[in-house]
Amino acid sequence: MAIRELDKPRLTWCSHCDKKRGCTIYETRPETCREFYCSWMTTPELGDHWKPLVSRMVLVHDRPRNWLVVHIDSGRTDAWRAEPYLSDLRAWSRYMAPKGGRVMIFQGERVIALLTDGEQDLGPRLREDGVAEMARRRGDEAVTPSNPS
Ligand code: SF4
Repeated sequence: MAIRELDKPRLTWCSHCDKKRGCTIYETRPETCREFYCSWMTTPELGDHWKPLVSRMVLVHDRPRNWLVVHIDSGRTDAWRAEPYLSDLRAWSRYMAPKGGRVMIFQGERVIALLTDGEQDLGPRLREDGVAEMARRRGDEAVTPSNPS
């Protein structure tokens, strides 16, 4: 994600991130970092296999859009297709769809909507918040949160 205080764009590594030890400025990290909690940190029911360092994925519940956004490590873009992850993601997709929710895979610049009966590649996203707008422009009614399939 983008960290405005550090001028760090999304899809780039933070200069303060040690890939083995984590944040090297944890005590003085910016407000954006302090306010961020991924779903693994807030959902005790998620198994240890969903810990981001293990899964290579970060789960974030986008409440306004009712999306479960799955950010994939750029070095392991196929991580979400491995088991037990794919089964979990499909189960969440089936659970969320009747309530207007979506599981959205953010795989680098690509966005994939995981549907109850397959997946839909929405192509490259244009902005951090541009997925819904992009889907509407493409006429992909099926991926709008207000129109679940
Ligand atoms: S928590 Fe630390 S390593 Fe992570 S983005 Fe913030 S400053 Fe960088």
